Amino acid sequence: MMKDDPNPVRSVAENPCNMCMPLGAIIPFKGIENCMVIIHGSQGCATYMRRHMAEHFNEPVDIASSSITERGTIYGGEANLKHGLNNLIQLYQPAVVGILSTCLAETIGEDIVRIAGVFQEEQAGSETPAMIPVPTPGYGGSHFEGYFLALTGIVTALAQPTRRHDRINVLVPHISPADVREIKRLLELMQVQYTLLPDVSATLDAPYTQIYRKIPAGGTVPADIAAMPGARATIQFGATVEDELSPGKYLEINHGVPLYNLSLPMGIVACDRFLNLLETLTGNEIPKQLLDERGRLLDAMVDAHKYNREGRAVVFGEPEMVYALGQVLAENGITPVILATGSKSPRLKELLLDLTADNDEEPLILIDSDFAQIRKHCADKRINLAIGNSDGRILTEKDGIPLVRMGFPVHDRIGGQRILTVGYTGTTQLLDLITNTLLANKLKHYRENMYAKHFPFQPKTIMFKGEVSDDGQF
Ligand code: SF4
Repeated sequence: MMKDDPNPVRSVAENPCNMCMPLGAIIPFKGIENCMVIIHGSQGCATYMRRHMAEHFNEPVDIASSSITERGTIYGGEANLKHGLNNLIQLYQPAVVGILSTCLAETIGEDIVRIAGVFQEEQAGSETPAMIPVPTPGYGGSHFEGYFLALTGIVTALAQPTRRHDRINVLVPHISPADVREIKRLLELMQVQYTLLPDVSATLDAPYTQIYRKIPAGGTVPADIAAMPGARATIQFGATVEDELSPGKYLEINHGVPLYNLSLPMGIVACDRFLNLLETLTGNEIPKQLLDERGRLLDAMVDAHKYNREGRAVVFGEPEMVYALGQVLAENGITPVILATGSKSPRLKELLLDLTADNDEEPLILIDSDFAQIRKHCADKRINLAIGNSDGRILTEKDGIPLVRMGFPVHDRIGGQRILTVGYTGTTQLLDLITNTLLANKLKHYRENMYAKHFPFQPKTIMFKGEVSDDGQF
């Protein structure tokens, strides 16, 4: 390890900046119609994942477990998994079942692909759901890698050679149900026929109903996923995704579907790129409604720029979000001082270096990082804004840096499922939130700073206190 390397290779994570692989892999399955997931491992893993998802999405989230105990750990957990699958099918009657493994299952050598095959052979003659096993050892990567591994697994398992049709495949990373709804609204305003995968817009943000459904309505229809190889193009919001984890790349290589790999449509440049691409692919003009929304975002940028210039931000989270936010900060004059992810993402680093090549201050890019490392670097860089998931609240609690919550998980506030950041409208809302957080922080410390400047020996006890909340959020 180099002595001054800001991003040293370490064998421990201290206060991680990511969730584990199977947790990320659950989410694409939750965006398929009538789909259920079983985790092959101990009860605790499934409980941890349910808890994080239920707190973030504020929904009941059913995840089955094969409940391996000490006996299964020693003699193998195949019988547990088959038993669990039988129970799950009887109780939920799903059309698709995702089977995910855990640290324990992978460490004792469980082969979930083989077990799923044997289970289906044993059920021959009776109607069984489609089984999609995806090996996801918790230590194999972060929830970001788990998400795209599962998404590629779903497309690989369900896609069938199909004759050409006019639909466009739209593959989205881990974004909120509100963001998925917004991308669907943009596609519909552009009159695009599309298959969006995974569609969590209703399954993880279901409207209240009197009758409880074990599997919420909504999600991408499996028959539409099967027809993805016949699409005229794939738009994948996965600029940071490596090829081997890219479902869009799989469709391009194996079925000849042209791939357009974009960053998330956050900020003027990225939204323009998305809508211009839709215009080119369909020949449909961008409607006035969207041009007006674009104009309002520009207006918001003009309103906010004099405040944002003072922003010095640390951004952390999943690679797609960090890259998209980096672009939003660049457009709005906020200095991205530290850009960090808990994932191993070489492509993110390349993209960020390119994005910030002309910046006056070179940002610190931390890959495969954790909050201990992020905090250490925040200390001497005069950071006044943090943007990322709730786990970054440690930056507020310990260092007084206000946090704008977005990404996953947001478990210390309600409404994680409704956080809207994409499209011109979502970016406008995000920009207001960022600017107001900077303003609140400035007003909170304004008098302290003024006194400190003019009366450097003034005792601290007579300083004024601000009136905004400690984390600067409203
Ligand atoms: S890291 Fe491993 S042990 Fe922990 S919840 Fe994830 S799969 Fe289970």
